[in-house]
Amino acid sequence: MRRQLFKIADSVRLPSKSNMLAYQFTTWEEDFELCEVPTPEPGPGETLIRVAGAGVCHSDLYLCDWPRSMLPSYDLPFTVGHEITGWVEETGPGGSDLEAGTAVAVYGAWGCGACGQCAIQSENYCENAAEVVASGPGRPGLGRDGGIAEFFLAPMSHHLVPLPPDLDPVEAAPLTDAGLTTYHTIRQSLDHLDEGATAVVIGVGGLGSLAIQILRALSGAQVIAVDIAPARLEVARRHGAHQTVLSGEDAPGVIREMTAGRGADLILDIVGTDDTLSLAVSAAAIRGHITVVGIGPGSFPMGYLQVPRGLSASTVFWGTISDLAEVVALAGTGAVKSDTETFSMQDASLAYQKLREGSLEGRAVIVPHGPR
Ligand code: NAD
Ligand code: ZN
Ligand code: ZN
Repeated sequence: MRRQLFKIADSVRLPSKSNMLAYQFTTWEEDFELCEVPTPEPGPGETLIRVAGAGVCHSDLYLCDWPRSMLPSYDLPFTVGHEITGWVEETGPGGSDLEAGTAVAVYGAWGCGACGQCAIQSENYCENAAEVVASGPGRPGLGRDGGIAEFFLAPMSHHLVPLPPDLDPVEAAPLTDAGLTTYHTIRQSLDHLDEGATAVVIGVGGLGSLAIQILRALSGAQVIAVDIAPARLEVARRHGAHQTVLSGEDAPGVIREMTAGRGADLILDIVGTDDTLSLAVSAAAIRGHITVVGIGPGSFPMGYLQVPRGLSASTVFWGTISDLAEVVALAGTGAVKSDTETFSMQDASLAYQKLREGSLEGRAVIVPHGPR
């Protein structure tokens, strides 16, 4: 049953304990809206999370920017935001056994729980993903209510990963997707990153700035960062990139010079347009690997005569729960840190506007309960 929904003007708040603010996708091909909706109550197996931070991901922009025909047939409205951290507020019967107040990261790549991929804890590659989205539990912020709200209802307790004590829950929010996706990608490509290898990161935004740090933490590879924005290349250097290259036609040649003509062993294309994929192929080494992380949505010709010998390529979707536990633990050691720029619920639309125009200084995180 669809809930009653009140659209409200910025900064206007209806005083009621049973309602909360939520930033929602209400109308296809239009911007999200700040709404007042009933605060959820945890039923059997469910856990209510008081949201600490909800990250703003470039993928959210596709929800409102892309034509409806390119997206799953979601049931609108729903609350957006799939990078969620918070504190356990209240538990329904049979819900999480974590104590109230425990800081948690929410794993969002929910699967059916029954297929071969889910059986090996790879819910992110669930074989029934289309059904999960269409008629199953869905995914937070991607078809069912997500985290840009005062409270978030977690349907399954095994999706809650406790945060290390020294990790600020607001700063940890981007780890649940930007960190998790890049950690998963790099972790499964470590055999391409022997000593002396080169990794290229194309796109130094929310995901790319974490990818550089994770590459430095997990490998001894030379890291080359590529972006169209010079300011982002400075960010890349601050996060440990050894070299930076302005994106464009010359970039593959510059990368070859930096690698004594060999090219790069691993390329993470975190943009995924025709231009960046062409750059990735031109800069790849013999037996190199390209992982397409960005949802561009571009493509490149793959044929025997068109790519370096032995080239492999893959796409990636989010990560596993154990990857999330590992990247959160890595951040707990201080080896990886998200740059964050925080916004109130009333400024959520400003956060998306800044993401769209490329003027964010760090990953935008919506903080629904005010400054810490
Ligand atoms: P972002 O907007 O924070 O960063 C994008 C960066 O790419 C910016 O720094 C921008 O300047 C740079 N860029 C744009 N065009 C470029 C070009 N031609 N060459 C080089 N750099 C360029 O975005 P984000 O939130 O980090 O997301 C990045 C991509 O990853 C998006 O496509 C997003 O949808 C996708 N994504 C995929 C997954 C997955 O599971 N595969 C998960 C999360 C995000
Ligand atoms: Zn995302
Ligand atoms: Zn499954």
